[in-house]
Amino acid sequence: MKVFKFGGASINSVDRFKNTASIIKSYEGDKILIVISAMGKTTNFLEKVVHSFFEGRKEEALSLFEELKNSHLNTLKYLTVVKWQEAENQLKQFFTEIEWLLHDKPVRNFDYYYDQIVCCGELLSSAILSNHLVEEKTNATWLDVRDIIRTDNNFRDAGIDWEFTSKRIQESVVPLFEKHDIVVTQGFIGATDENESTTLGREGSDYTAAIFANLMNGESVTIWKDVEAVMSADPKKYKEASILDKLSFTEVIEMAYYGAQVIHPKTIKPLQNKNIPLLVKSFLDPSLKGTIISKETNKNLPPIIVHKANQVLIQFKTKDFSFMEDQPIQDLMNIFNQIKVKPNLTQKTAISFVCCFDDHAEKINLLAQSASELFDVEVEKSLTLLTIRHYNQETINNLIEGKVILLEQKTTQTVQMIMR
Ligand code: ASP
Ligand code: MG
Repeated sequence: MKVFKFGGASINSVDRFKNTASIIKSYEGDKILIVISAMGKTTNFLEKVVHSFFEGRKEEALSLFEELKNSHLNTLKYLTVVKWQEAENQLKQFFTEIEWLLHDKPVRNFDYYYDQIVCCGELLSSAILSNHLVEEKTNATWLDVRDIIRTDNNFRDAGIDWEFTSKRIQESVVPLFEKHDIVVTQGFIGATDENESTTLGREGSDYTAAIFANLMNGESVTIWKDVEAVMSADPKKYKEASILDKLSFTEVIEMAYYGAQVIHPKTIKPLQNKNIPLLVKSFLDPSLKGTIISKETNKNLPPIIVHKANQVLIQFKTKDFSFMEDQPIQDLMNIFNQIKVKPNLTQKTAISFVCCFDDHAEKINLLAQSASELFDVEVEKSLTLLTIRHYNQETINNLIEGKVILLEQKTTQTVQMIMR
Protein backbone atom coordinates (compact mmCIF):
# COMPACT_ATOMS: atom_id res chain seq x y z
CA MET A 1 0.00 0.00 0.00
CA LYS A 2 1.22 3.48 -0.91
CA VAL A 3 0.24 6.75 0.73
CA PHE A 4 -0.01 9.91 -1.39
CA LYS A 5 -0.49 13.35 0.07
CA PHE A 6 -1.71 16.18 -2.13
CA GLY A 7 -1.47 19.72 -0.76
CA GLY A 8 -3.77 22.68 -1.35
CA ALA A 9 -1.90 23.91 -4.43
CA SER A 10 -2.47 20.61 -6.25
CA ILE A 11 -6.26 21.07 -6.12
CA ASN A 12 -6.72 24.84 -6.25
CA SER A 13 -8.66 24.79 -9.55
CA VAL A 14 -10.67 22.46 -11.76
CA ASP A 15 -7.59 21.82 -13.91
CA ARG A 16 -5.43 21.05 -10.92
CA PHE A 17 -8.05 18.56 -9.64
CA LYS A 18 -7.95 16.88 -13.05
CA ASN A 19 -4.17 16.82 -13.01
CA THR A 20 -4.19 15.23 -9.54
CA ALA A 21 -6.68 12.61 -10.70
CA SER A 22 -4.53 11.79 -13.72
CA ILE A 23 -1.47 11.26 -11.51
CA ILE A 24 -3.48 8.90 -9.32
CA LYS A 25 -4.78 7.03 -12.37
CA SER A 26 -1.25 6.51 -13.67
CA TYR A 27 -0.64 4.24 -10.65
CA GLU A 28 -3.25 1.71 -11.73
CA GLY A 29 -2.78 -1.63 -10.02
CA ASP A 30 -1.51 -0.10 -6.77
CA LYS A 31 -3.49 0.26 -3.57
CA ILE A 32 -3.27 3.93 -2.62
CA LEU A 33 -4.46 5.89 0.37
CA ILE A 34 -4.87 9.53 -0.66
CA VAL A 35 -4.55 12.17 2.03
CA ILE A 36 -5.71 15.55 0.89
CA SER A 37 -5.52 19.15 2.12
CA ALA A 38 -8.13 21.83 1.68
CA MET A 39 -8.30 23.56 -1.74
CA GLY A 40 -5.78 26.37 -2.23
CA LYS A 41 -6.07 28.94 0.55
CA THR A 42 -9.33 27.59 1.97
CA THR A 43 -7.93 27.09 5.46
CA ASN A 44 -6.92 30.77 5.68
CA PHE A 45 -10.37 31.72 4.47
CA LEU A 46 -12.05 29.50 7.06
CA GLU A 47 -9.91 31.12 9.74
CA LYS A 48 -11.59 34.41 8.80
CA VAL A 49 -14.99 32.78 9.20
CA VAL A 50 -13.99 31.60 12.69
CA HIS A 51 -12.86 35.08 13.70
CA SER A 52 -16.06 36.72 12.47
CA PHE A 53 -18.18 34.15 14.26
CA PHE A 54 -16.23 34.22 17.52
CA GLU A 55 -16.11 38.04 17.60
CA GLY A 56 -19.89 38.16 17.24
CA ARG A 57 -20.14 39.20 13.57
CA LYS A 58 -22.56 36.47 12.63
CA GLU A 59 -23.79 37.97 9.35
CA GLU A 60 -20.22 38.42 8.14
CA ALA A 61 -19.36 34.84 9.09
CA LEU A 62 -22.39 33.53 7.21
CA SER A 63 -21.72 35.58 4.14
CA LEU A 64 -18.06 34.57 4.00
CA PHE A 65 -19.17 30.98 4.36
CA GLU A 66 -21.64 31.45 1.52
CA GLU A 67 -18.73 32.49 -0.70
CA LEU A 68 -16.84 29.35 0.18
CA LYS A 69 -19.89 27.19 -0.49
CA ASN A 70 -20.38 28.66 -3.92
CA SER A 71 -16.77 28.26 -4.96
CA HIS A 72 -16.75 24.59 -3.90
CA LEU A 73 -20.09 23.83 -5.56
CA ASN A 74 -18.88 25.51 -8.69
CA THR A 75 -15.69 23.47 -8.80
CA LEU A 76 -17.69 20.30 -8.22
CA LYS A 77 -19.92 21.05 -11.22
CA TYR A 78 -16.97 20.84 -13.59
CA LEU A 79 -15.68 17.61 -12.12
CA THR A 80 -18.78 15.42 -11.88
CA VAL A 81 -21.62 14.69 -14.28
CA VAL A 82 -23.25 11.35 -13.54
CA LYS A 83 -22.37 11.60 -9.85
CA TRP A 84 -23.09 15.31 -9.60
CA GLN A 85 -26.34 15.25 -7.60
CA GLU A 86 -25.08 12.67 -5.15
CA ALA A 87 -21.82 14.58 -4.71
CA GLU A 88 -23.60 17.88 -4.21
CA ASN A 89 -25.71 16.32 -1.49
CA GLN A 90 -22.58 15.13 0.26
CA LEU A 91 -21.08 18.64 0.20
CA LYS A 92 -24.34 20.13 1.43
CA GLN A 93 -24.26 17.94 4.51
CA PHE A 94 -20.92 19.46 5.50
CA PHE A 95 -22.27 22.96 4.85
CA THR A 96 -25.26 22.30 7.07
CA GLU A 97 -23.07 21.13 9.97
CA ILE A 98 -21.16 24.43 9.88
CA GLU A 99 -24.14 26.72 9.29
CA TRP A 100 -25.94 25.18 12.18
CA LEU A 101 -23.00 26.13 14.38
CA LEU A 102 -22.65 29.64 12.90
CA HIS A 103 -26.23 30.42 13.87
CA ASP A 104 -25.44 29.81 17.53
CA LYS A 105 -23.61 32.11 19.92
CA PRO A 106 -20.10 31.08 20.96
CA VAL A 107 -20.07 29.66 24.48
CA ARG A 108 -16.86 27.65 24.36
CA ASN A 109 -13.28 28.74 23.69
CA PHE A 110 -11.88 29.96 20.38
CA ASP A 111 -9.77 26.89 19.62
CA TYR A 112 -12.77 24.58 19.91
CA TYR A 113 -14.75 26.57 17.33
CA TYR A 114 -11.68 26.89 15.14
CA ASP A 115 -11.49 23.12 14.76
CA GLN A 116 -15.24 22.59 14.26
CA ILE A 117 -15.27 25.11 11.40
CA VAL A 118 -11.83 24.78 9.80
CA CYS A 119 -12.12 20.98 9.41
CA CYS A 120 -14.70 21.47 6.68
CA GLY A 121 -12.02 22.54 4.14
CA GLU A 122 -10.57 19.03 3.95
CA LEU A 123 -13.99 17.34 4.07
CA LEU A 124 -15.09 19.31 1.01
CA SER A 125 -11.92 18.91 -1.07
CA SER A 126 -11.68 15.17 -0.39
CA ALA A 127 -15.34 14.66 -1.30
CA ILE A 128 -14.84 16.54 -4.59
CA LEU A 129 -11.76 14.50 -5.47
CA SER A 130 -13.22 11.11 -4.61
CA ASN A 131 -16.41 11.79 -6.56
CA HIS A 132 -14.34 12.92 -9.52
CA LEU A 133 -12.20 9.78 -9.32
CA VAL A 134 -15.31 7.59 -9.31
CA GLU A 135 -16.63 9.55 -12.27
CA GLU A 136 -13.33 8.79 -13.96
CA LYS A 137 -14.05 5.10 -13.43
CA THR A 138 -11.46 4.37 -10.80
CA ASN A 139 -12.31 2.10 -7.93
CA ALA A 140 -12.14 4.90 -5.36
CA THR A 141 -14.03 5.54 -2.16
CA TRP A 142 -14.25 8.34 0.39
CA LEU A 143 -13.45 7.99 4.08
CA ASP A 144 -14.21 10.40 6.94
CA VAL A 145 -10.88 10.44 8.76
CA ARG A 146 -12.65 11.60 11.94
CA ASP A 147 -13.95 8.04 12.29
CA ILE A 148 -10.36 6.77 12.25
CA ILE A 149 -7.92 9.27 13.74
CA ARG A 150 -8.71 9.67 17.42
CA THR A 151 -7.09 12.58 19.23
CA ASP A 152 -7.12 14.29 22.61
CA ASN A 153 -9.06 17.54 22.96
CA ASN A 154 -6.09 19.85 22.67
CA PHE A 155 -7.87 21.77 19.92
CA ARG A 156 -5.71 23.22 17.11
CA ASP A 157 -2.73 21.07 18.08
CA ALA A 158 -4.38 17.78 18.94
CA GLY A 159 -2.31 14.78 20.02
CA ILE A 160 -2.89 11.36 18.44
CA ASP A 161 -4.27 8.39 20.37
CA TRP A 162 -2.09 5.86 18.53
CA GLU A 163 -3.60 2.76 20.06
CA PHE A 164 -7.21 3.61 19.30
CA THR A 165 -6.35 4.90 15.82
CA SER A 166 -4.46 1.71 15.04
CA LYS A 167 -7.44 -0.37 16.09
CA ARG A 168 -9.80 1.68 13.92
CA ILE A 169 -7.49 1.30 10.94
CA GLN A 170 -7.48 -2.49 11.32
CA GLU A 171 -11.27 -2.59 11.72
CA SER A 172 -12.21 -0.10 9.04
CA VAL A 173 -9.50 0.91 6.61
CA VAL A 174 -7.88 -2.46 5.95
CA PRO A 175 -11.26 -3.99 4.88
CA LEU A 176 -11.96 -0.94 2.66
CA PHE A 177 -8.87 -1.81 0.65
CA GLU A 178 -10.21 -5.31 0.06
CA LYS A 179 -12.98 -3.74 -2.01
CA HIS A 180 -11.29 -0.58 -3.30
CA ASP A 181 -7.97 0.37 -4.87
CA ILE A 182 -8.10 4.00 -3.83
CA VAL A 183 -9.26 5.44 -0.53
CA VAL A 184 -9.50 9.24 -0.36
CA THR A 185 -9.40 10.84 3.06
CA GLN A 186 -8.60 14.14 4.79
CA GLY A 187 -5.30 15.35 6.15
CA PHE A 188 -4.95 17.64 9.16
CA ILE A 189 -8.12 16.63 11.03
CA GLY A 190 -9.25 14.05 13.57
CA ALA A 191 -11.84 13.70 16.31
CA THR A 192 -12.07 13.28 20.08
CA ASP A 193 -13.84 10.45 21.88
CA GLU A 194 -16.84 12.77 22.04
CA ASN A 195 -16.90 13.12 18.26
CA GLU A 196 -15.73 16.71 18.30
CA SER A 197 -13.57 17.60 15.32
CA THR A 198 -9.93 18.47 15.99
CA THR A 199 -7.00 19.71 13.90
CA LEU A 200 -3.37 18.69 14.13
CA GLY A 201 -1.71 22.10 13.59
CA ARG A 202 -1.34 24.13 10.40
CA GLU A 203 0.13 22.24 7.46
CA GLY A 204 -0.60 19.03 9.36
CA SER A 205 -1.72 16.94 6.37
CA ASP A 206 1.78 15.59 5.85
CA TYR A 207 1.61 14.26 9.38
CA THR A 208 -1.69 12.47 8.67
CA ALA A 209 -0.05 10.72 5.71
CA ALA A 210 2.78 9.56 7.97
CA ILE A 211 0.35 8.31 10.64
CA PHE A 212 -1.46 6.10 8.11
CA ALA A 213 1.79 4.83 6.60
CA ASN A 214 3.13 3.94 10.04
CA LEU A 215 0.00 2.14 11.23
CA MET A 216 -0.62 0.33 7.93
CA ASN A 217 3.04 -0.49 7.25
CA GLY A 218 2.88 1.39 3.96
CA GLU A 219 5.60 0.82 1.39
CA SER A 220 6.17 4.57 0.93
CA VAL A 221 4.69 8.03 1.34
CA THR A 222 4.74 10.48 -1.56
CA ILE A 223 4.15 14.17 -0.95
CA TRP A 224 3.14 15.86 -4.22
CA LYS A 225 4.18 19.50 -4.33
CA ASP A 226 4.57 22.36 -6.77
CA VAL A 227 8.37 22.20 -6.55
CA GLU A 228 10.74 19.95 -8.47
CA ALA A 229 12.27 18.48 -5.33
CA VAL A 230 13.58 19.50 -1.93
CA MET A 231 16.13 22.29 -2.38
CA SER A 232 19.16 23.17 -0.28
CA ALA A 233 17.77 26.69 0.26
CA ASP A 234 14.93 28.89 -0.88
CA PRO A 235 15.87 29.60 -4.52
CA LYS A 236 14.10 32.98 -4.31
CA LYS A 237 16.49 34.09 -1.58
CA TYR A 238 19.67 32.24 -2.50
CA LYS A 239 20.78 31.74 -6.07
CA GLU A 240 23.16 28.86 -5.23
CA ALA A 241 20.17 26.74 -4.06
CA SER A 242 20.40 23.25 -5.53
CA ILE A 243 18.21 20.17 -5.80
CA LEU A 244 18.76 17.45 -3.20
CA ASP A 245 17.95 14.00 -4.65
CA LYS A 246 18.60 12.07 -1.47
CA LEU A 247 18.30 13.04 2.16
CA SER A 248 18.29 11.17 5.43
CA PHE A 249 15.47 11.33 7.96
CA THR A 250 17.85 13.10 10.35
CA GLU A 251 18.65 15.78 7.82
CA VAL A 252 15.00 16.47 7.03
CA ILE A 253 13.74 16.49 10.61
CA GLU A 254 16.40 19.09 11.44
CA MET A 255 15.58 21.21 8.37
CA ALA A 256 11.84 21.05 8.95
CA TYR A 257 12.05 21.72 12.67
CA TYR A 258 13.99 24.91 12.07
CA GLY A 259 11.56 26.24 9.53
CA ALA A 260 12.17 24.70 6.09
CA GLN A 261 8.78 24.74 4.42
CA VAL A 262 9.26 21.37 2.71
CA ILE A 263 7.51 19.04 5.11
CA HIS A 264 5.71 19.29 8.39
CA PRO A 265 8.31 18.44 11.07
CA LYS A 266 6.06 15.87 12.79
CA THR A 267 5.98 13.78 9.60
CA ILE A 268 9.41 12.24 9.98
CA LYS A 269 9.19 10.29 13.24
CA PRO A 270 6.36 7.90 12.23
CA LEU A 271 8.20 7.14 8.99
CA GLN A 272 11.66 6.80 10.49
CA ASN A 273 10.32 4.49 13.21
CA LYS A 274 9.09 2.02 10.59
CA ASN A 275 11.77 2.78 8.01
CA ILE A 276 9.24 3.92 5.40
CA PRO A 277 10.75 6.07 2.62
CA LEU A 278 9.30 9.50 1.93
CA LEU A 279 9.28 10.80 -1.64
CA VAL A 280 8.78 14.45 -2.52
CA LYS A 281 7.60 14.81 -6.11
CA SER A 282 6.29 17.50 -8.42
CA PHE A 283 2.64 17.31 -9.40
CA LEU A 284 3.47 19.68 -12.26
CA ASP A 285 5.93 17.20 -13.78
CA PRO A 286 5.58 13.71 -12.29
CA SER A 287 8.33 12.40 -14.57
CA LEU A 288 10.95 14.25 -12.47
CA LYS A 289 12.71 12.15 -9.85
CA GLY A 290 12.13 14.47 -6.92
CA THR A 291 13.74 13.73 -3.55
CA ILE A 292 13.95 10.44 -1.67
CA ILE A 293 14.14 10.67 2.09
CA SER A 294 15.20 7.50 3.85
CA LYS A 295 17.48 6.17 6.57
CA GLU A 296 20.48 6.30 4.24
CA THR A 297 22.88 9.13 4.95
CA ASN A 298 24.25 11.22 2.17
CA LYS A 299 27.78 12.43 2.80
CA ASN A 300 28.08 14.95 -0.02
CA LEU A 301 25.53 17.52 0.98
CA PRO A 302 25.95 21.18 0.10
CA PRO A 303 25.26 23.75 2.82
CA ILE A 304 21.57 23.55 3.63
CA ILE A 305 20.09 26.89 4.54
CA VAL A 306 16.90 27.54 6.46
CA HIS A 307 15.52 30.95 7.40
CA LYS A 308 12.80 31.16 10.04
CA ALA A 309 11.38 34.67 10.09
CA ASN A 310 9.14 36.38 12.62
CA GLN A 311 11.18 35.35 15.64
CA VAL A 312 11.26 36.98 19.04
CA LEU A 313 14.14 36.79 21.46
CA ILE A 314 13.33 36.95 25.16
CA GLN A 315 15.77 37.21 27.99
CA PHE A 316 14.60 36.09 31.44
CA LYS A 317 16.90 37.21 34.25
CA THR A 318 16.54 36.27 37.89
CA LYS A 319 15.59 39.36 39.92
CA ASP A 320 17.75 38.61 42.96
CA PHE A 321 20.90 37.26 41.29
CA SER A 322 19.96 33.62 41.97
CA PHE A 323 21.61 31.19 39.61
CA MET A 324 19.48 30.16 36.65
CA GLU A 325 19.26 26.62 37.95
CA ASP A 326 16.68 24.21 39.42
CA GLN A 327 13.83 26.35 40.72
CA PRO A 328 13.99 29.30 38.32
CA ILE A 329 14.33 26.93 35.33
CA GLN A 330 11.43 24.89 36.58
CA ASP A 331 9.31 28.03 37.03
CA LEU A 332 10.07 29.10 33.49
CA MET A 333 9.25 25.68 32.02
CA ASN A 334 5.93 25.72 33.87
CA ILE A 335 5.07 29.07 32.35
CA PHE A 336 6.04 27.83 28.86
CA ASN A 337 3.84 24.78 29.30
CA GLN A 338 0.89 26.76 30.57
CA ILE A 339 1.00 29.21 27.68
CA LYS A 340 1.94 26.44 25.23
CA VAL A 341 5.01 28.06 23.77
CA LYS A 342 8.09 26.12 22.74
CA PRO A 343 11.46 27.81 22.34
CA ASN A 344 13.29 27.25 19.04
CA LEU A 345 16.67 27.98 20.55
CA THR A 346 17.85 28.53 24.12
CA GLN A 347 20.99 29.65 25.88
CA LYS A 348 21.65 29.81 29.58
CA THR A 349 24.06 32.02 31.50
CA ALA A 350 24.66 32.26 35.24
CA ILE A 351 21.55 34.27 35.97
CA SER A 352 19.68 34.44 32.70
CA PHE A 353 17.93 32.25 30.18
CA VAL A 354 17.62 33.49 26.62
CA CYS A 355 15.02 31.90 24.33
CA CYS A 356 13.91 32.42 20.79
CA PHE A 357 10.24 31.79 19.93
CA ASP A 358 7.92 32.09 16.95
CA ASP A 359 6.20 35.43 17.41
CA HIS A 360 2.57 34.52 18.10
CA ALA A 361 1.75 37.97 19.43
CA GLU A 362 -0.97 37.09 22.00
CA LYS A 363 1.04 34.22 23.47
CA ILE A 364 4.26 36.22 23.60
CA ASN A 365 2.56 39.12 25.40
CA LEU A 366 1.06 36.73 27.89
CA LEU A 367 4.42 35.02 28.35
CA ALA A 368 6.26 38.29 28.99
CA GLN A 369 3.56 39.35 31.41
CA SER A 370 3.47 36.18 33.51
CA ALA A 371 7.23 35.75 33.52
CA SER A 372 7.79 39.33 34.68
CA GLU A 373 6.34 38.43 38.08
CA LEU A 374 9.41 36.25 38.71
CA PHE A 375 12.06 37.54 36.30
CA ASP A 376 13.33 40.69 34.62
CA VAL A 377 12.15 40.24 31.06
CA GLU A 378 13.52 41.81 27.90
CA VAL A 379 11.84 41.23 24.53
CA GLU A 380 13.15 41.90 21.03
CA LYS A 381 10.94 41.25 18.00
CA SER A 382 11.21 41.02 14.20
CA LEU A 383 14.24 38.74 14.14
CA THR A 384 15.28 35.85 11.92
CA LEU A 385 16.65 32.49 12.96
CA LEU A 386 19.17 31.30 10.40
CA THR A 387 20.17 27.64 10.42
CA ILE A 388 22.95 26.32 8.19
CA ARG A 389 23.73 22.59 8.12
CA HIS A 390 27.10 21.54 6.64
CA TYR A 391 28.22 25.14 6.77
CA ASN A 392 31.42 26.66 5.53
CA GLN A 393 32.77 30.10 6.34
CA GLU A 394 32.01 31.49 2.89
CA THR A 395 28.31 30.60 3.14
CA ILE A 396 28.10 32.10 6.61
CA ASN A 397 29.76 35.33 5.46
CA ASN A 398 27.38 35.63 2.52
CA LEU A 399 24.33 35.15 4.63
CA ILE A 400 25.15 37.43 7.54
CA GLU A 401 26.37 40.39 5.52
CA GLY A 402 24.81 43.57 6.87
CA LYS A 403 23.07 41.74 9.74
CA VAL A 404 23.56 42.05 13.47
CA ILE A 405 24.02 38.67 15.16
CA LEU A 406 22.37 38.55 18.58
CA LEU A 407 23.06 34.92 19.40
CA GLU A 408 25.09 32.18 17.77
CA GLN A 409 25.38 28.44 18.41
CA LYS A 410 27.68 26.10 16.57
CA THR A 411 28.27 22.36 16.43
CA THR A 412 30.49 20.61 13.88
CA GLN A 413 27.40 20.08 11.66
CA THR A 414 25.19 23.07 12.24
CA VAL A 415 25.42 26.76 12.92
CA GLN A 416 22.42 28.76 14.11
CA MET A 417 22.17 32.49 14.44
CA ILE A 418 19.53 34.92 15.57
CA MET A 419 19.83 37.99 13.38
CA ARG A 420 18.41 41.49 13.34
N1 ASP B 1 -5.21 22.79 5.07
C1 ASP B 1 -4.37 22.81 6.24
C2 ASP B 1 -3.51 24.06 6.22
O1 ASP B 1 -3.55 24.82 5.27
C3 ASP B 1 -3.55 21.60 6.40
C4 ASP B 1 -2.53 21.35 5.32
O2 ASP B 1 -2.59 21.95 4.25
O3 ASP B 1 -1.64 20.53 5.52
O4 ASP B 1 -2.80 24.29 7.16
MG1 MG C 1 -1.40 22.93 2.69
